[in-house]
Amino acid sequence: MDAVHANYPFLDASREAVREADLGLAELVTAGGSGDARHPAVERGVQRVERALLDGSVDLPEGQRHPGVQAELLSYPVARVLVSLLDAPGAIDKYATAEARTAHERFVADFETLDDDARAPDDGKVPLRYVLREFDLADRVDLSGRGGDGRDDRTERDDGVAMAVTAYLRLASGFEGERWRLVTRALADGWVSLAREELHELLREAVRQRVADGLPTRVPEQIAAGLTDEVAELEDAFSEIDVTRDIDVLAPERFPPCASGLVERAQSGADLPPHAEFALVSFLASANADDEQLAALTGAETEAELRALRYRAERVSDESGAQYAPPSCATMQAYGECPVADEDSSIEDPRCETISHPLTYYEDALADAE
Ligand code: SF4
Repeated sequence: MDAVHANYPFLDASREAVREADLGLAELVTAGGSGDARHPAVERGVQRVERALLDGSVDLPEGQRHPGVQAELLSYPVARVLVSLLDAPGAIDKYATAEARTAHERFVADFETLDDDARAPDDGKVPLRYVLREFDLADRVDLSGRGGDGRDDRTERDDGVAMAVTAYLRLASGFEGERWRLVTRALADGWVSLAREELHELLREAVRQRVADGLPTRVPEQIAAGLTDEVAELEDAFSEIDVTRDIDVLAPERFPPCASGLVERAQSGADLPPHAEFALVSFLASANADDEQLAALTGAETEAELRALRYRAERVSDESGAQYAPPSCATMQAYGECPVADEDSSIEDPRCETISHPLTYYEDALADAE
């Protein structure tokens, strides 16, 4: 068992490591016994699902101690079982998307430090070719951008790559947006030209598909019974915030201090960490910001920034109106992104004492203004 298995628990090698650990789920679930603490893998599995559905990420919250490679790895099968038992609309899709989003953040960082051609994981990190092989894409992606026959059509970007069209269609078919439509892309001899970041987005989709595959899983009665408390805890957490809220007014002057602060930092060109960026984009998407407003409030200027932003906003909301709710006040405080709770900040806001979610703050502020 290796750190890479904990970082990427959906890999074939990670499944093998779980098998080798020879710790059955029933054993984990009952390990705590009555009155005892939960097994760390179960504790982290609950957190994994809660973070996935409420925050769109399965990363450990900043500052939380790593539970250890084994507990982190085993929390993945626990989370799959929990999400299968949950009675929450869109839970599986959101869970798989959050696993994929976290993996994407990790492997993009890994690719920056490891050589593309490295063949094996190193120090918990994965190289690009390893990930391509994992998803059966080794022969379907050409990192030279020339396509399988050596053709060179890198007209737009020096860092372009090419993907076989069948693989492209399998991965991009669920993506929304004009740029993913095959007719809008350079295509020659069965190869589609891509920018590196687009390849990374398609790999994220490959992860999402793998995580979603087989969910909901059939859960044996003994295990379901052992997880009754955990499922109830998760259902309680989700009922705290109505994720189908329909706010249709964008009034930045009514934003809570946390959202105003993030807007200010983004507009001044600060590089927001991923959790803060997610909090901002999901808040703005929930507040019904359109593309132009999103760009204005986040300071996005270049076409690439706008495209990435639009994509992220699309991923946190969907046409049915179901959304990733922005993080709650408790989560914002844990992130260190709540200025009211920050002892070093002089910002005070009496409304913050009456609510537990930034969207509730915004709704109340809008209602007062009306
Ligand atoms: S208390 Fe909640 S709404 Fe108010 S600033 Fe903090 S996170 Fe935002």
